Amino acid sequence: MQPDDCLFCRLYREADPVHSADGFIAIKDINPQADTHLLVIPRRHIDSFREIREFPPEEARAMLDFVADTARHVGLEDYKVVVNVGPGAGQTIFHLHWHVLGGRIRGLA
Ligand code: 5GP
Ligand code: ZN
Repeated sequence: MQPDDCLFCRLYREADPVHSADGFIAIKDINPQADTHLLVIPRRHIDSFREIREFPPEEARAMLDFVADTARHVGLEDYKVVVNVGPGAGQTIFHLHWHVLGGRIRGLA
């Protein structure tokens, strides 16, 4: 179920991605916590990683490939992939997304 007011559903349609594939985009985080801080956003809306079973298996696999492809695309060999699950873990946007952090990392680690 895709809420009408979901920021990342809107960004999926409107943002200018640094990398994209069918069903996935990567955009720059507006408040970067590292030299390179990207957000991988799937087109499919689920509130958080907790609901990952709602992804069809091929789509979940494609999302993981896209995370790795995005890092490679921007020239990162070493990096962190972070998913905050729930407010207690720092999640503020309730549309599943993956943080990709490279270079000097200040937060989210
Ligand atoms: P969370 O805290 O939910 O794991 O991550 C949400 C991330 O989205 C934060 O790192 C925050 O800086 C980023 N963010 C929030 N609003 C916007 C926006 O309008 N555009 C972009 N590019 N990033 C955003
Ligand atoms: Zn959404």
